[in-house]
Amino acid sequence: MQRIKAILLVLIFSISTLTGFVSAQEAETEENWPGEPFDNHIHLTWATLTLDVNDWADEYPEIVDLTSAGVSELGKTLWVVRLSDWSNDTKPDGSPKEMIYIDGGHHGNEYLGTALAYLSAKWYITEWAAGNQEAIDVLQNTEIHILIMLNPDGNDIDTRWNINQVDLNRNYDHYWNTCDSTQPGSSAFSESETEANADYMNEYMVDADLYVTMHTGVWIMLYPWGKWPEQPADWELFHQIRDDVQANISQIPIQNANQGLYPNCGTSRDYGYGVMGFPTFTFETDDEQFVPGSFESLKERLGEEMDVMRFLINNVWYWRARLDVQSLEVSEDTAEIYVQNHGHASTSNATLQYVAENGEIEWSSGLFGVNATNSTKITFEGDFGDLTTGGEWRLNYAKRVIPSSTWVNETINSSVIDSSDVESKSMPGYALFNPIAIITGISLVALWKREEIDYF
Ligand SMILES: [Zn+2]
Repeated sequence: MQRIKAILLVLIFSISTLTGFVSAQEAETEENWPGEPFDNHIHLTWATLTLDVNDWADEYPEIVDLTSAGVSELGKTLWVVRLSDWSNDTKPDGSPKEMIYIDGGHHGNEYLGTALAYLSAKWYITEWAAGNQEAIDVLQNTEIHILIMLNPDGNDIDTRWNINQVDLNRNYDHYWNTCDSTQPGSSAFSESETEANADYMNEYMVDADLYVTMHTGVWIMLYPWGKWPEQPADWELFHQIRDDVQANISQIPIQNANQGLYPNCGTSRDYGYGVMGFPTFTFETDDEQFVPGSFESLKERLGEEMDVMRFLINNVWYWRARLDVQSLEVSEDTAEIYVQNHGHASTSNATLQYVAENGEIEWSSGLFGVNATNSTKITFEGDFGDLTTGGEWRLNYAKRVIPSSTWVNETINSSVIDSSDVESKSMPGYALFNPIAIITGISLVALWKREEIDYF
C-alpha cells in the first residue's frame, strides 16, 4: 500500500510541477492545517482518496473506522470514514454518542465541496493526533460519518453528472421529479450512488442530529425546503443556527433552499429532512469551481467554512428538542409536570406516560408542546390513584417538529417525582395506623396479591 502510494505521489507531483505546483514544504509549515492535497490544487481522484482513507484507518485505528456505503455505477467503492473514539461505545457518562452525517461530491465537478468533506475528516484526525482538546472531546462524544465522494465516476472525469448522465442531487425519493429538474434519472433512486447513500442513512444514521451535504456553486448554506418556498416546520432551529453562525463565525448567507434560488426536488437535503428527519444543510462552499493550476491556499478558501462546520459539530447536542423534567407532582387526580427544553428545536407532540411493570402504557396524557430553549408547566387530570405499582413515569416526544423526526422515550428520574399525596393515602403502613382505614387496608393487601395494588 505504502509503495503504491509512493509511486502515485511521484506521478501526482510530476503532473503538478507542470501545472504550477507549490512546494509541499510550504504547505506543511501551516501548523496542523490538513490542506494537502488541496492546497496545491491537485485533483483528488477516487484512487488517491482510496489510498488516503486507507492510510487514515491504518494509522489511527483508535479513531478511524473505514467502511463502504456501496459502489458507484462503475463499481468504485463509496468510502465512509467513521470518526469517533472507538475505545468507548458511549460517551464518558454512559449516554449514547451524538450522530452526525456528512457527504460530499454529489456533483463530480464541484471540487471544493468534496474538499470540505475531506477536510472535515482530516481536521479531526490531525487535531486529535496533535492532542487538540476540542477534537478529543468531539470524538469522545460523537460519531461523525463522512462519505467524502459520492460520485467518484463523475469526479474522475470532472463532470456534474454520474456515469449515466443523471444529476444525483435530483434523484432522491422525496417529491422526485416534481419540479422542473434536469436529468433526475428514470426513477427515484435509479442510481446506485443515491440508493447507497439513502441505505446508509437508513441503516446507520437514523439517530443523526445533523446532516451536511457539500457542494460548490454559490457561497451559501441552504436548509430545507428546496421543493417549497415556505419555511420548514423546524424554522426556529434553522433560524437560531443562522443567527448564531452569522453573529459569531461567518457572514455566509443561510436561507431555505427554495427562496431566492429556484425550486429543486429530489435533493438529498430535502430527503434528509423530509424523510429522515435530520436538521440538514447544503453547504455550498464557494462560488467558483476548481481552477487547475491556480495558487490559493485552501485555508483561505475553506478555513471559514471549516469554522462553521466545527460550530455545527461542537453543538450537535442542541440540534433537537432536549426535554428535561424539573418536577412531576402526582396526586389522586392530577399530575403536574414542569419540563425544560434545553435543545434549540421545538417539540409539538410530547406525552407524559405511566408505564406499568409489564411494559403496558397504563396512562398517557394528551399531546403537549415545549418550545425551543423554553419551558412548559402543564397539569393533567386522571385517576392516578388507580395506577399499578412498580411502573415508571416516562416522557415520549419527537426530537423535532417535522413528522419524520425520530422519537425519544425516556424514564423520568424518580428524584424529581413527588407522588407522596397518592402514597400517603394508600400505603399499607398508613392503613395499619389508621383504624378507619383498616378495611381499605385489608382490601389493599388482597389487591396487592393480585398485583393490582392501589398505589405506586
Ligand atoms: Zn452541487
